[in-house]
Formats: sequence, C-alpha cells, structure tokens
Amino acid sequence: MIRVVCWGLGAMGSGIARNAAKKDQIHVVGAIDRDERLKGKDLGEYLGLKKPLGVKIDSDPVKVLNESYPDIAVIATNSFVSNVLPQIMLCVEKHINVITIAEEMAYPFESHEEAAQLIDSMAKKYGVTVLGTGINPGFVLDQLILNLTGACLNVRKITARRINDLSPFGKTVMETQGVGSTPEQFKAGLKNGTIVGHIGFRQSIKMIADYLGWQLDRIEEEREPIISKTRRETSVVKIEPGMVAGCKHIGRGIIGNEVVIELIHPQQIHPEIEQVDTGDYIVIEGDPTVSMAIKPEIPGGKGTMALATNMIPTVIDWDPGFYSMADLPIPVCLPQKEE
Ligand code: NAD
Repeated sequence: MIRVVCWGLGAMGSGIARNAAKKDQIHVVGAIDRDERLKGKDLGEYLGLKKPLGVKIDSDPVKVLNESYPDIAVIATNSFVSNVLPQIMLCVEKHINVITIAEEMAYPFESHEEAAQLIDSMAKKYGVTVLGTGINPGFVLDQLILNLTGACLNVRKITARRINDLSPFGKTVMETQGVGSTPEQFKAGLKNGTIVGHIGFRQSIKMIADYLGWQLDRIEEEREPIISKTRRETSVVKIEPGMVAGCKHIGRGIIGNEVVIELIHPQQIHPEIEQVDTGDYIVIEGDPTVSMAIKPEIPGGKGTMALATNMIPTVIDWDPGFYSMADLPIPVCLPQKEE
C-alpha cells in the first residue's frame, strides 16, 4: 500500500483525499490544513465517507509528516511556486515524494528556473520524485496536446480552447480569477497582480514548445472580464448582474511575428446560465492536421482530483528528480477498492 498525506483540504484537496481513500493501492495516513476549524476532525467524517478513516486533521505539517510515515504528500494549497516551495522542501528533506497541483509547478523550468533547479537537485539528493500536475496546466492544454502531436509527421501551429465551468473550485481560484469582483475591481486587480486569470499559460506554452523543439521568441497574454447578465452563485461566491463571472484569458507563443501556439481559455462560474456550452478543443495544424473536440469539457474539479491521484504510483516508481507531466508515462485511472 502507498501511504499518502493530503496537504490542503479545500475544494480540490478534499476531493483528492476522498478519491485516494477509495483506491486499492492507497492508504491515506495523514491530513494537513491550516484551517483551525478542521483541526482534530476525523478525515473520513470531514470527507463524508461512510466510515471514519482514523486520521485526524492537523494544522502542523511537521507533526503530521513525522508521525504518519508517508511515501508521498499531495499538496493542494496554493498556485504559486514561491508559496509551495517551503512545503515541497519540507517533504523532500524528509524523503517524501511530492505531487502538487500548484499551477506554476506544472513546468517552472524557465519561469522559476532557480526554484526548479533547487527542487530537482534536492529531490535527487534525497531520492524522491516531485511532479506538478492538474487538469490545466498539467493535462488539457499541454500534455494532451503533446500526446496528439505524436500522430503527426510535422506540426506548424497549435490552437486550443478550453471553455470551462469554474463552479467546482474553491475560494483561492475565485479570487485569482476575479470572480465576484466589479469590473472596476477586476481592472485594478489585474494592475496590482491580485487578479491573474488563468495561472499556467507560461508553463503550458513552454512545455509544448520545449517538447516540440520550438524556440519561442516570446509569450504574450491577454485577459478580459466575463461580465454576468444574471445572478449566479456557488458555495464560495455570489454575483449579481454586472459583476465579473470569470476571465477570458488568451496565451500566445510567438516565433518572429508568427503565433505558433495559441491557448484560449474563457472560464466562468455556471456558464450554462447564459447558454455557454463548455468544451475542450485542440487543432494541430500539420501533416496531418489533427482536430479534437471534447464536449462538454473534462470537468476541472474531478479531472484535477483524478490526475493528482492517478499519478501517485508512477511518481513513487519514477527516478528521483523534478518532472512535468510531459516527462512521465500517460496517466491511467487507478482501480478502486472493493466496497
Ligand atoms: P481552496 O481555496 O478551496 O483550498 C485551499 C486549501 O488549502 C484550504 O483549505 C486552505 O486552508 C489550505 N491551505 C492553504 N495554505 C495552506 C498552508 N500553508 N498550509 C496548510 N493548508 C493550507 O482551493 P482549491 O480549489 O482546493 O485549489 C487549491 C489550489 O490548487 C489553488 O491554488 C488552485 O488554483 C490550484 N488548482 C490547480 C489546478 C490545476 O489544474 N493545476 C486545478 C484546480 C486547482
């Protein structure tokens, strides 16, 4: 059995813990969240499972990691390398493998070169493997695209769109996407960096370019608010007509004056209320041209929970170091425990 600690028990982390607890190769042995309201609760009860898991949620990572002897920690706390780096280092120095869904960790080898090199060298020193994954970045707009190029004799250009529903995500995502802000607050948030739209375009675009052997001259990004005409609500945010329901974010990888990678990502809560159909669309112009459409979208919440769980055995078996989803074998769904 693989012993897993879940670090961060919000919308994604609790789903990862619930999914991991059902898998036959996995034993969830520890749970960390800084939210003091969760402290001392049985993880199984918190997750709404049929039986308690006998694992008490704690806010002290050192205590949990020392006392539960995990093989791997799954970190679902934050999006940014600077914030998850100390959490990753704490695990690595305790010889614990790491999977994180922090978007910037999906491929930070250029955007955060120093931190990425540090993680890689420390992982090798302590004999563990670190992986950044998630639905996006980590799958739909990067690894899946790369997989499809495997059937091409050559590739000229990639255009992909992910039109998705943000409703399953927690407070962290709503804040960084600007959901629930006024158009003025959205504009100000973009300026002062509190609203960033989708996190991970730089990482996805660089992953694609590196693996295709393309030398990009630059990456450009463009963001605009999606203003709601209707009242919309999730468990963490409420919006009135005229407020921001999401962000349309576009990322472009450019060689010379030519856009060779274009990723278009309008994300909002409850798109169905305004008759917006979700979907994932990839067009690879080349020989042959490959066009893929997944309708509706692969749901972001479940997709992230699944990827973070399904990669666990691969990460445990892989050579020490820091890897992206493009480096590792394709993810497959793990079998469930018998009821
Ligand atoms: P959330 O706000 O619902 O949950 C975050 C949880 O982590 C909270 O319970 C919070 O108390 C806990 N936490 C935060 N910092 C902590 C710390 N230092 N120590 C212990 N606990 C801490 O957010 P979410 O929707 O679950 O998403 C989690 C993160 O994953 C976000 O940053 C989100 O952007 C990212 N994410 C990535 C992908 C992907 O595709 N790569 C997909 C979904 C979410």
